[in-house]
Amino acid sequence: MSNYTTQMDAARKGIVTEQIRTVAAKENMDVEALMKLVAEGKVAIPANKRHECLLAEGVGSMLRTKINVNLGVSRDCKDYDIEMQKVMSAVDLGAEAIMDLSSHGNTQPFRQKLTSECPVMIGTVPVYDSVIHYQRDLATLTAQDFVDVVRLHAEDGVDFVTLHCGITRKTIEQIRKHKRKMNIVSRGGSLVFAWMCMTGNENPFYEYYDEILDICEEYDVTVSLGDACRPGCLADATDVCQIEELVRLGELTKRAWDHNVQVMVEGPGHVPLDQVAANMKVQQSICMGAPFYVLGPLVTDIAPGYDHITAAIGGAVAAMNGAAFLCYVTPAEHLALPNVEDTKQGIIASKIAAHAADIAKGIPNARDIDDKMADARRELDWDAQFECALDPETAKAIRDDRSPEEDHSETCSMCGKFCAVRSMNKALSGEYIDIL
Ligand code: SF4
Repeated sequence: MSNYTTQMDAARKGIVTEQIRTVAAKENMDVEALMKLVAEGKVAIPANKRHECLLAEGVGSMLRTKINVNLGVSRDCKDYDIEMQKVMSAVDLGAEAIMDLSSHGNTQPFRQKLTSECPVMIGTVPVYDSVIHYQRDLATLTAQDFVDVVRLHAEDGVDFVTLHCGITRKTIEQIRKHKRKMNIVSRGGSLVFAWMCMTGNENPFYEYYDEILDICEEYDVTVSLGDACRPGCLADATDVCQIEELVRLGELTKRAWDHNVQVMVEGPGHVPLDQVAANMKVQQSICMGAPFYVLGPLVTDIAPGYDHITAAIGGAVAAMNGAAFLCYVTPAEHLALPNVEDTKQGIIASKIAAHAADIAKGIPNARDIDDKMADARRELDWDAQFECALDPETAKAIRDDRSPEEDHSETCSMCGKFCAVRSMNKALSGEYIDIL
């Protein structure tokens, strides 16, 4: 029988868990310093006691920025083998978390496969699964049904659950009066909103929050406070609906911490670039430094097909200003369920954003790999360059497809003998430089 409930409880009691030790080693951080951050809620270590193959990670703004990959079947794309291929590719490419957002069929075997085989953090959104699990229409579900699905996911070993607790019946009037361009674009948020409208009841995740916290404490499930009112377009960014919900998320963060339950707070959304930093500061202040998990932010609305890029721009600025966890966005965002290639593109874009932010915020040793790449480039050592690359396969394929006709190892086909690197190396070592 363990003498602590959650990682936060252990840290508050001064107990060094295996997970705290693992995260401290990965982050080159002193165990005591990390424990203080976990005890205060500034770092979360989502690690369900039943997810035994997990290699724990910490999420917090002073640690390396982590990325999440959303997966899962839908009614129109229901091949679990393809989803498993995406999982393997995500783990290989360095994703630290996978959220299973399946919304069709029997979801439990896939969820259990993830928590029994996958070494990265697993997250879910129980409200999506409620309709699927009971195979009943939304309006017929009771508050207890939703709470029971949270328990089911906890028992299945899920490390974090998104709960849309921040909207209440007051939000219904606010959304009607405020006349946002995009209303609510959060899938879970829209389901909770619709359920409240159809049943006349209060948000069950808000009303039964204490009961849900008891479940999360028992299994050590981290609560990821969903942002139902995240802006779905630039015009809705940082409006009263978003900020009013954020204030409630701050209150709910404190209540979770009082139960020793770890918290992450989810954030926007579509946000103009000049508002991204301010959004991060406001969240950190209202939510007392709880790790911020952002969905983008997408800095323009007009790039369907390229939203992995709009999200990476926003994600880099967000992480540099305090976001701890980036949810990837793929080129298929707003258009379709991502395929394997879309998933890869989304992961790479997110990894670039996270790494760029880590360098900017001075995470120790974050830039070492860039310095190694610079050395390999100066030496025109192509194999060493591929080793440093975030996506070696693509880098190698492009070079091999268009390699220079002469002196293959010396330059690339961009400049050939006009190669600045080659000219400088030769000039500095006193060699003759042949161009023609
Ligand atoms: S040929 Fe041009 S692009 Fe290619 S390595 Fe040399 S300087 Fe760089």
